[in-house]
Parts: sequence; structure tokens; C-alpha cells
Amino acid sequence: MTVFKKILDGEIPAEIVFEDDQCIAFRDIAPKAPVHILVIPRKEIPSIDDLQTEDEALMGHLFLVAKQVAAQEGLSSGYRTVINNGPDGGQEVPHLHIHVLGGRSLTWPPG
Ligand code: AMP
Repeated sequence: MTVFKKILDGEIPAEIVFEDDQCIAFRDIAPKAPVHILVIPRKEIPSIDDLQTEDEALMGHLFLVAKQVAAQEGLSSGYRTVINNGPDGGQEVPHLHIHVLGGRSLTWPPG
């Protein structure tokens, strides 16, 4: 079981900033920016590579929640959404999630 499933099940704590029937959003435990929130589906989808056609609307919903969370956090001058995928993509937790990063000027390209 992934650490994110444990958060979904309430087995380990997280600072949840948004939740609905399809997803939850909570603060990253090791923030890489002043605001660093993870938006995750309740459905256990390991990565982008595991997405099915039936997940199309869910993915759209996750991005609308990412936008809403960014507004809620006051990120009016911009922010970054990131989905790491697989080992070379830097993915550590095999439960699909959108990082919402902001509160400082972010550099490009990523490392
Ligand atoms: P990724 O490398 O894209 O899989 O991102 C996983 C993220 O989950 C990292 O930024 C971690 O800091 C974060 N993380 C791991 N465990 C927890 C936890 N218990 N609560 C909140 N965030 C976590």
C-alpha cells in the first residue's frame, strides 16, 4: 500500500486543503517551494502510464482542483503543476499526483 493510500484511508495524517468525492489535496511533507500541494485521485492509479480512457474526466477534474487550490493559496502571480512519471521522471510514490508549486519564482529547466 502506498503512503498516499494511507493518507486517503486516514491511517497517517496530512494537512488536507481540499477534498471531494474524486480527490484530495494536501501539503507536501517536504515542500520544494513556499506552497507545495499534492492533488491526488481517490482512485489508485499508479502513474500516467496506467491511465485508461475512463480516467479522462477524472484527470480534467484534478487540474480544475489544482487551479482552485492555487487560487485558494493566493498564487495570483503564477505557479507550476508537475506530474512526475516513472524512475527517470523522478516519481517516488506510485499513486498518480499533481504537484502544485508556488510562492516563489521557479526556475526552468528542472534538474
Ligand atoms: P513524486 O516524487 O513525484 O512521487 O512526489 C512524491 C511527493 O510526496 C514528494 O514531494 C514527497 O515529499 C511527498 N510525500 C511523501 N510522503 C508524504 C507524506 N506522508 N505527506 C505528504 N507528502 C509526502
